Amino acid sequence: MRIIVVGGGTSGLLSALALEKKGHDVIVIEKNKVGGLCRSEYIDEGYIVDIGVHAITMLNEGPLIRLLKKYSKYIPNFRPYGDYYVRLDKLYTIPVSMQEWTTTPIVPNRDKVIITTKMIDLMTSGFSKETSVYDVIKDMNLSDKSIDFFNTICYFLSGEDIKKTPLWRLFTGAGYIPEDDILPFIYEDLRINPLKTVLFKKINKERIKSILNDGFLNSIRSGSKRYIGKFINKVRYWTQGYPIGGVQSICDSILYSLNKTKIIEGEEVIKILEYNENEEKSGYIVETDRDNYHADVVIYSAPSKILPKIAEIDEIKRNKDKLEGIKFTKSLTVWIGHEKNPFNYTGSEIWIDHPCWATCVSNYDKNLAPSGKHLLGFSFVNTKKEEALNIIENKININIDRAHMIHFQESIPEQASCTVGQYFVYPKIRDNFYVVGTDADPRSMGITRAAYSVEVMLSEFDISFKK
Ligand SMILES: Cc1cc2nc3c(=O)[nH]c(=O)nc-3n(C[C@H](O)[C@H](O)[C@H](O)COP(=O)(O)OP(=O)(O)OC[C@H]3O[C@@H](n4cnc5c(N)ncnc54)[C@H](O)[C@@H]3O)c2cc1C
Repeated sequence: MRIIVVGGGTSGLLSALALEKKGHDVIVIEKNKVGGLCRSEYIDEGYIVDIGVHAITMLNEGPLIRLLKKYSKYIPNFRPYGDYYVRLDKLYTIPVSMQEWTTTPIVPNRDKVIITTKMIDLMTSGFSKETSVYDVIKDMNLSDKSIDFFNTICYFLSGEDIKKTPLWRLFTGAGYIPEDDILPFIYEDLRINPLKTVLFKKINKERIKSILNDGFLNSIRSGSKRYIGKFINKVRYWTQGYPIGGVQSICDSILYSLNKTKIIEGEEVIKILEYNENEEKSGYIVETDRDNYHADVVIYSAPSKILPKIAEIDEIKRNKDKLEGIKFTKSLTVWIGHEKNPFNYTGSEIWIDHPCWATCVSNYDKNLAPSGKHLLGFSFVNTKKEEALNIIENKININIDRAHMIHFQESIPEQASCTVGQYFVYPKIRDNFYVVGTDADPRSMGITRAAYSVEVMLSEFDISFKK
């Protein structure tokens, strides 16, 4: 079968790799550079910078490693990520477990009791899918310090503040609630019967059935014993890592494993039209700014938000408003090459007064910076370049004028931010049209999320073409 993959980021390339190995003829059409956000750039002064600051989640049993183990020739080397800190007067570990919450110095003593009691209360009595973090904390009479902390954590988990971040995202992000428990309620396309999708068969049909029958609120209530157990015990994110060589290494391992797939770079897909002359002669014409291609199957990995403008397909037309309503957040990453390294640890830190995620990537791989220099990365939300430089200078006390290299990147980390009411597309649109990418799965983050969507697409694809 001839398959066209629109977009060559993580999800597009992983799809191409798997489908090539299944014996199909695959063409990837990428409007910019292959790799999308899973790319590293060479900077003249001798630095290799990723598109945004990265930590790769779920390396022990996640979808990225599963797909690479199955289809790629090799798996990149990852270094253990380390811990996450908050920088106040000094560095403090981000509290996750109940014990950490009750002892952390980052919130006032009075708030510690209120927060831990409320968490247990919420897991016991349940909450609705639309409940935001703000809905809960607004009546808790917390100090500004604690509210600012929650705000920063929300930006980190969903790309938005406490008002737009759903409470379930906070609980799944901290590891108290397994993300699969939330999944049945996330895909809002009413044509999808969750019980008939492969995803739910894979998870555990009986469990999903009872979760769906209970409804969101009751299913949180009925899972409370397990969730509280996770909150009480120390849950940690040890299975995260950073790839040696930068995120480009992940992209390279996929590209190196492709044999026959044709990759076209610098060509933008502008229309996807279906034709149906007879049963033998049907499929899609994929029109780019330069050429036309024929496909039996389309795997679409560009932003779903623009699908209604590109694809003239009934299923897309029906969901036009939901697709066009998908929201995402813009980020600014500042890369600084410096002789000074204020981060004498592996891991990363978040800043509260100006939400920022900061790390030294050359602590994982010194080859990302020239000899004697360090590569520092800072990802901000809603911040201008000048302001970002001032914040960095003040926060970690480095002299920006002595920087060896400064490089700015403005990008959109995920094609759908994980916010209250966000619409996620189910990867199967119809038997021969699929959507993959971070807007087609709400689980985990970035690269792992993109890989999850590819797994679901592949299972649906296999069922459709075994008919
Ligand atoms: C600041 C920042 C921090 C991040 N942190 C992390 C992290 O810690 N952990 C993590 O896992 N991930 C992180 N990510 C995100 C992660 O890199 C991405 O979510 C992931 O790589 C997205 O893969 P994708 O395939 O869904 O999308 P993309 O990589 O965006 O791929 C989509 C591709 O489609 C192409 N395209 C768009 N329109 C068209 C068209 N009309 N025709 C042809 N091609 C088209 C685009 O050019 C792009 O290459 C971060 C990203 C940023 C920017």
